[in-house]
Amino acid sequence: MSTRPAWDDDPIVASWAGLPVLDDALTADVCVVGLGGSGLAAVDALVCRGLDVVGIDAGRTAAGAAGRNGGFLLGGPASFLHSAIESWGEVAVELYRKTLVEIDSLEAKLGSSVIRRTGSIRLAGLPGSTDDVELSDCRILARVLGEHGIAVETYDDELGQGIFLPDDAVMNPALRALGLASQLRRRAQLFEHSPVTSIRSGRVDTRNGSVSAPFVIVAVDGNLERIFPRLRGRIRTARLQMLATEPVLSRRLPCPVYGRWGYDYAQQDSDGRLYVGGGRDLFADDEWSESDEPTATVQQHIESVARSMAAHPVTVTSRWAASVGFTADGRPLCTTVDDGVIALGGYNGTGNLVGPVAARAAVEHLLDGAPVPAFLSA
Ligand SMILES: Cc1cc2nc3c(=O)[nH]c(=O)nc-3n(C[C@H](O)[C@H](O)[C@H](O)COP(=O)(O)OP(=O)(O)OC[C@H]3O[C@@H](n4cnc5c(N)ncnc54)[C@H](O)[C@@H]3O)c2cc1C
Repeated sequence: MSTRPAWDDDPIVASWAGLPVLDDALTADVCVVGLGGSGLAAVDALVCRGLDVVGIDAGRTAAGAAGRNGGFLLGGPASFLHSAIESWGEVAVELYRKTLVEIDSLEAKLGSSVIRRTGSIRLAGLPGSTDDVELSDCRILARVLGEHGIAVETYDDELGQGIFLPDDAVMNPALRALGLASQLRRRAQLFEHSPVTSIRSGRVDTRNGSVSAPFVIVAVDGNLERIFPRLRGRIRTARLQMLATEPVLSRRLPCPVYGRWGYDYAQQDSDGRLYVGGGRDLFADDEWSESDEPTATVQQHIESVARSMAAHPVTVTSRWAASVGFTADGRPLCTTVDDGVIALGGYNGTGNLVGPVAARAAVEHLLDGAPVPAFLSA
């Protein structure tokens, strides 16, 4: 059984030639630490301003959650829009709109074969079961989305009952990151397998090199508090787990599907393979962990979700996990940790779009002095 994410089986991902190791002393306008979806968005925003940028990752591009996640591109923050409005006010709607713009921008950069505009289905419960409480929550969500002019439809079909969000999309997350990195490597100096060992104002050191830069953006979601211990208490690392199956004959999932309040989720690719995750809430004590090793208990749960999504027995080919950051009030961090050094993370398990939105806000804050938007925690 492989513990490598099944996304890496994609031929383009599997044949990634790699980026060089940083083994020199460089200078730049900005150094970006972490080349997941968020760090790459920061690099993109910076090179678009004509700046000289160095980007560094400890492993392969998107070695962390950005290359190991469910591949859902869902509008909005981690909590459903009505709950986010209740907690943070109308700024939650602003974040929702920015995530939809981010989908458009990813599609424009990578094309519709990588960023697939399928929409998404939020079920009440899992296929075959209806949770009345969750169904009424789906209806509240649909009403609030409608009130804000965000597209939403009722879903009542083979998989169960819930809502359909036509603006959402889906991807292979590793393909997204490597696609962006191969475009950006022509405009920025990008390095892999170069773990950063120290970050201070004006300087980043790696095992074999260094970067002197007046601005540093650290875009590391899970285990950010290991890099900046002063952020402990503001961000906490959790493990999220997934599995992939052999192709399932029925093409049952037309788009990404999530249920049980979004805790369980699956997508199916064009070969019929299922990519399924979830269950963190059921084993929360164990999953507050900095480890990224899959566990038997969560995997058993996800396998039952896979069967329910497939309506068939499934054969699992790989099981994997990765780390993400959670924050107390659900607002991601975009916070200055030292003069000219900003740290991003804490997307509460939904960073594929919110991470890039935070990265763009960090660039505007660092370079233009723009205030950090209220949907982020400064
Ligand atoms: C199983 C799972 C399923 C998920 N499903 C979804 C989903 O469907 N939709 C969604 O929106 N979100 C999902 N998420 C959350 C999402 O994956 C993350 O929030 C998002 O990928 C964070 O991206 P990032 O670029 O901010 O950080 P990361 O992915 O954490 O990337 C940080 C990068 O920094 C590098 N790094 C770390 N330390 C150092 C160092 N010292 N020196 C240099 N580099 C370093 C890492 O190698 C890594 O590549 C899921 C997460 C998991 C684990």
